[in-house]
Amino acid sequence: MLATPERVVGRGRTPDRTIWHKPGSGHRCAGNCDFHPIACSEEEGIVAPAPNRDIPLRLDVEHETWCGDCLTLIRQQRTNAAQERS
Ligand SMILES: [Zn+2]
Ligand SMILES: [Zn+2]
Repeated sequence: MLATPERVVGRGRTPDRTIWHKPGSGHRCAGNCDFHPIACSEEEGIVAPAPNRDIPLRLDVEHETWCGDCLTLIRQQRTNAAQERS
């Protein structure tokens, strides 16, 4: 699943984390974007983002997580798509 990374800088002993969001619709990543819209928010987005990457839904990487709201959206879309096919 293509995802756009949000870097969350840790403080003190907390390490930096990466939160992966579903990219917002209508955006084509050119690899050097100033901004990435994200599916879980109409207003918010990622400023000066790192390029999108293909991320497994079952992410098992330390200090990296999926955005809960985006994950819910992805699961809903998959459910809807499965229902349309049947
Ligand atoms: Zn999100
Ligand atoms: Zn981009």
